[in-house]
Amino acid sequence: MARGRGLKPGLHVRCGVVLPIVRLRRSSEGPESGPRTAAAGPRRPGLARLGTRWPSLPAVLATLLCGCGDRPPPPLPAFDGAAALETAREFVALGPKDSGTPGAARAAEWIRARLVAAGWEASIDEFRDGPPGGELTFRNVVASRRGAGPGIVVFGAHYDTKSGIPDFEGANDSASGVAALLEIARVYARSAPPCEVRLAFFDGEECRVAYGPHDGLHGSRRLARRAVDEGWARDVRAVLILDMIGDRDLTVTLPRNGTPALLSAVFDAAHAEGVRDRFRLAPGQVLDDHVPFLEAGMPAVDLIDFEFGSAPGLNDHWHTPADSLDKLSADSLAIVSRVALRTAAAVASGR
Ligand SMILES: [Zn+2]
Repeated sequence: MARGRGLKPGLHVRCGVVLPIVRLRRSSEGPESGPRTAAAGPRRPGLARLGTRWPSLPAVLATLLCGCGDRPPPPLPAFDGAAALETAREFVALGPKDSGTPGAARAAEWIRARLVAAGWEASIDEFRDGPPGGELTFRNVVASRRGAGPGIVVFGAHYDTKSGIPDFEGANDSASGVAALLEIARVYARSAPPCEVRLAFFDGEECRVAYGPHDGLHGSRRLARRAVDEGWARDVRAVLILDMIGDRDLTVTLPRNGTPALLSAVFDAAHAEGVRDRFRLAPGQVLDDHVPFLEAGMPAVDLIDFEFGSAPGLNDHWHTPADSLDKLSADSLAIVSRVALRTAAAVASGR
């Protein structure tokens, strides 16, 4: 299958989710052309520093070839993909959630109420930060639950929508991740998590102009800093970011800038779930909510399908009105969520 179609070398600098080594779009798409020029700036210095820690080719091959074992996988609690899809539908119906707008504030409260209804204690962490164009109020929604073993696993997803795109629904970017995390909350409410679990719904993942210290990743930078300041960063065994995971034509393109042991754990979990063919290593790095945690020394990985397009290998639905509910499937939401749950169980047990 022509999975590689559309891949072109070069630095991806368009404001949005990513800053990978490889562009995943054709150069001719209209809606992307303006912002891409405006966003063409230097790479984030933090990302350049992190470059030395990305897995080498031998490490990557070792990850891909890792022994997954033939033991039958232990059972996981049931994850309801259809319920997650319905949650995504309801979240999209709330309307745009651009950071700093009443829509984003409503979305944060909606998420908090859903978590409470699922039996979690949840709170909204409100803070100010200054992207280009003026300081904004951001709101992370956070919840935690104690589990059987030591250590902490963080599941994260951003809920803000990209601004400046007429008729943008953000079904995959961001409702899919929100819906998956809310369903994971219900799973862990029914059956105790394998260790302490924190759920983080980030505001301000999307940048306004170009990613930088004060533009984009506001919510994840905030929580990573809090984890260090409050002293629980050292207990974090995994930060699992779920972003753009609902595409009917699912290919999870794991960015290379993930912690190698976690990448290996994700591939093992995908193998155990019988969905290994839906996961592969991306050709480049991705700038997403996992990066602030990596920079703060926590193991982190980004579960993202950055081939969200009209044909295999393309990403032409991303940040366009084509990012709509009809592109999502319950199966894809369940596949990625179950792999995340199985990865969490594995790192919690030290496997
Ligand atoms: Zn986005």
